[in-house]
Amino acid sequence: MIKIHDKNFELYLTEKEILDAVKRIAGEIAADYKDEVPIFVGVLNGSFMFVSDFLKHYPHPCEVSFVKLSSYRGLTSTGIVETLLDAPDNIEGRSVIILEDIIDTGRTLQELVHIFSNTNVKNFRIASLFYKSEVYNGEYSIDYFGMEIPDRFIVGYGLDYMEQGRNLRDVYQINKAHMINLVLFGKPGAGKGTQAG
Ligand code: 5GP
Ligand code: MG
Ligand code: MG
Repeated sequence: MIKIHDKNFELYLTEKEILDAVKRIAGEIAADYKDEVPIFVGVLNGSFMFVSDFLKHYPHPCEVSFVKLSSYRGLTSTGIVETLLDAPDNIEGRSVIILEDIIDTGRTLQELVHIFSNTNVKNFRIASLFYKSEVYNGEYSIDYFGMEIPDRFIVGYGLDYMEQGRNLRDVYQINKAHMINLVLFGKPGAGKGTQAG
């Protein structure tokens, strides 16, 4: 068990389990895009470790860029999404694959679809390492994902709790007691003004 700020977290996924999922996604995308040079667009901050490991296991020529949005504060999504770093230039006619750390409600994804819908890309797809399928209520289907996970807050491997925990190699899940408190008594730890990603 580890403690970050005021919350306890338990080990949930090991570095090896995560890397196996990353390699599998890289293999799937490589098979689909071997005949062109796709542009991978990581969503900062949370996807930085995923992007790094993904690219190390992507075997064909490719390009990489980043966007930055904001919607998550503390433990719960605020529903407000703001663009802090916009889509790369010169992507007209290109295949773009978004690399996300986690898809939760899908609000961030909706904003990404909106941003790229104005760019005349040839082809637009989403890859997310983690996917909370119970919570997701967007229309867009997730093209590639590493692991379906339950609706329980996780940290590590790039994902933060109030900006800490991104450097952890493994992924930790918030203690069940904290989740019950969240449901019954509101959202302690939420609204502290951390940035998204
Ligand atoms: P959505 O817009 O899909 O509700 O939320 C997506 C963003 O919220 C993710 O990119 C991530 O930054 C953050 N997020 C969603 N679920 C979790 C979680 O369990 N842990 C952490 N650390 N961030 C999360
Ligand atoms: Mg965050
Ligand atoms: Mg993200």
